Amino acid sequence: MAAVNWTDELREHCEECDRRTPHEVSVEMRTENQARENAAFSREPYRVSMCTVCGTETTQRMNNA
Ligand SMILES: [Zn+2]
Repeated sequence: MAAVNWTDELREHCEECDRRTPHEVSVEMRTENQARENAAFSREPYRVSMCTVCGTETTQRMNNA
């Protein structure tokens, strides 16, 4: 699988704007540093969407079931 990293323009609901606005969406691999079980850290894919109107950034872990 190639590096997952792209930018797209989508319309999503923005809580700050309280309406649907264009968002820039990308996926980043972020290193987590949470001590849980015996994994010191792991890299998890996060979906990052930023409202292009007000600049609010929302990150959401993609592995959630
Ligand atoms: Zn907004």
